[in-house]
Amino acid sequence: MNIDFKWNQDTLIAIGASRSGKSDFVKQVIKPCKRMIVLDSNHEYAERYGLKKVKNPLQVTLNSALQASDYTLSTLNKFIIASRQFTNCLIVFEDIDLFLKNVPETQAKNLQINGRHQGLGQIIVSHRLVGLPLLMIQKADYLVMWKVPKMLEKNENDKWRSSIPTIDLHSQLSTHSKIVYRMKSEVAKPIHLDQCNCAECILERSGNA
Ligand SMILES: [Zn+2]
Repeated sequence: MNIDFKWNQDTLIAIGASRSGKSDFVKQVIKPCKRMIVLDSNHEYAERYGLKKVKNPLQVTLNSALQASDYTLSTLNKFIIASRQFTNCLIVFEDIDLFLKNVPETQAKNLQINGRHQGLGQIIVSHRLVGLPLLMIQKADYLVMWKVPKMLEKNENDKWRSSIPTIDLHSQLSTHSKIVYRMKSEVAKPIHLDQCNCAECILERSGNA
C-alpha cells in the first residue's frame, strides 16, 4: 500500500496497539524523508536513522531525536515550539498519547493548523484514539487505524463518529489489520482495507464471526 504522503506538508495519524505493525508501517512512510525531528518516546529512531540524541526538548535541531526524561504536556509543548524553528521538515511524534492526558489545548493544535504553511509535515503515532483531540483527527490528511478495542465509556464512540463514521468496524479487525483513510472535509473516507492473513489474524477473525 503506497500512500502519497508529502513529508514536508501532510499530517498522518497512525493509531494502533503495540505489536500491531504500526511501527513498520510508519518506517515505510518516512523512508523518502531526509530531514526529520523525532519525539523518540520508545528510543527506536535515533539509532535507526542516525539522529542526534537530545534530552532537553528546547535543544532539538534538524535530524535530532528527543528522548525526554518525562512525559508531560510541558515537554511536548517545548518540543513543538523548538521544532517549529525549522522548515521543510517532518516531525514525528512517537507515542503522543503518553504526553496527552485529555488536555485538548496544546501547541499540537497550533502546529496542526499552521504547520502545512511552514513546510512541516507530521506523523503522529498513538496507541489509542481516546485522549487525542478531535481536532487533531479532523485536520489530518491521512488517518491509519488498526484494531481498537470497543470503547468502554458509553458515548465515546459517538464522539468520534462524526469524523470517523466507520469507527465501529475497528473493534472487529484482527490485530494486524488496518484501514487507511484520507481525511476530506474533516471526515475520514476509507481508501484501503489492509487485512492481515497471518494464521493468528485468520483465527482471530473466525472467532469474531
Ligand atoms: Zn496478522
